[in-house]
Amino acid sequence: MLVRNETSPEDIKGMSVARGILTARGGLTSHAAVVARQMGKCCVTGCGELDVRTAEKVMKARGQEVREGDWISLNGTSGEVILGQAKLRAPELAGDFATLMSWADEVRTLGVRANADTVADSEAAVKFGCEGIGLCRTEHMFFQGDRIDSVRAMILAQDEAGRRKALARLLPMQREDFLGIFAVMKERPVTIRLLDPPLHEFLPKTEQDMKQVAKLLGVSAETVSHATETHKEQNPMLGHRGCRLAVTYPEISEMQARAIIEAACEMKKKGVNVFPEIMIPLTAGTAEWEYNRKLVQETAEKVIREKGVQARYLVGTMIEIPRACLVAGEIAESAEFFSFGTNDLTQLTYGLSRDDAGRFLPEYIEKNLIPRDPFIAIDREGVGEMVRIGIERGRKSRGNLELGICGEHGGEPTSVEFCHLVKMDYVSCAPYRAPIARLAAAQAAIEHGAYQRVEVH
Ligand code: PEP
Ligand code: MG
Repeated sequence: MLVRNETSPEDIKGMSVARGILTARGGLTSHAAVVARQMGKCCVTGCGELDVRTAEKVMKARGQEVREGDWISLNGTSGEVILGQAKLRAPELAGDFATLMSWADEVRTLGVRANADTVADSEAAVKFGCEGIGLCRTEHMFFQGDRIDSVRAMILAQDEAGRRKALARLLPMQREDFLGIFAVMKERPVTIRLLDPPLHEFLPKTEQDMKQVAKLLGVSAETVSHATETHKEQNPMLGHRGCRLAVTYPEISEMQARAIIEAACEMKKKGVNVFPEIMIPLTAGTAEWEYNRKLVQETAEKVIREKGVQARYLVGTMIEIPRACLVAGEIAESAEFFSFGTNDLTQLTYGLSRDDAGRFLPEYIEKNLIPRDPFIAIDREGVGEMVRIGIERGRKSRGNLELGICGEHGGEPTSVEFCHLVKMDYVSCAPYRAPIARLAAAQAAIEHGAYQRVEVH
């Protein structure tokens, strides 16, 4: 069990080997919940009564003390944390399940993709009947193996030349990541999101870790602590992240676009015509979008010329800032697809922090002030209206604009019904939730009628 106050991308290795994840802070769309869902692991977030003392390797709650190595069990459905070892039974997916799913697939209009960023996730996606990947969060790749060292070297570099040197070390590793995913997904679409989190998430937190990093990279401890200070933000979710990073450091997007297209060319040479959809995160405006799109497209075309292989690809954007919904018509003039990031879109439309709202939202539900947590089920009146505006304006300027959703709502039945009603092409969710999405999509098609999806593939 991994027990933390909250997790960040830095915990990805710990999460991948943990049987379950428990955090004191956070909610249903905070990092721990999102990643655990994708990995198919049990997780309880925002357990406010917990006093987690990481350095002492102990947690306390209700007068009980649990130390590293003691047994606890988690119930991810009810949110219970149980002292000791509960009796478990593995779920069975028998023949009836496959029959029901095949009936659902016959009638549904909505496509179902997976949020996946490893080979294991991609295999689970195929197993659970997903037609592609709707969100590959590339930041998770930056923590695999020892590549975090190159990421840190890139952040600590004093100039562009230094950053490019570190990025050159990351390029072959990223290419291998994409080759692994493409080999599983074959000709299915794979939506790959370029780097999204603020850079401070990649830097060491404690003084001891800073010293270690300084030694490893051959710089002074002051250089590391200065960089940590410099990258600190008052509100990182509204700060230097998403495509704003590429405005400051275009070489990061260049490296990622190159890795994707080089991998696509290599697969094409092997006879597999893979289909990457390169996705730019956190777009807010048209000029910003154009800057990022050109950067990616020019790099992609350069690689295609170098390799002499005509790899196919799309360039599109996440729509997760309310402003992007309003200017969707202009963005869609050159964007080939939109994917609604309803985690951030809920956070920004509602003015609710996805990491802190778990502390007080239950009271809102208890007092009947809101029907459901808007991070679980899409808030149709507000956030849903933003999505409608984005779709209407986007499709008006580009009739065959591909539309999907990749926020956590993509695996929740009432939100899937909403996505059907606004005629999206697909929902994307954690692979293990795909059967739920397939069933909900079929129920929506039966209740509200079928429609024609756009054909961009
Ligand atoms: C979103 O904001 O809905 C999204 C999918 O991106 P992330 O959760 O990584 O911010
Ligand atoms: Mg987001």
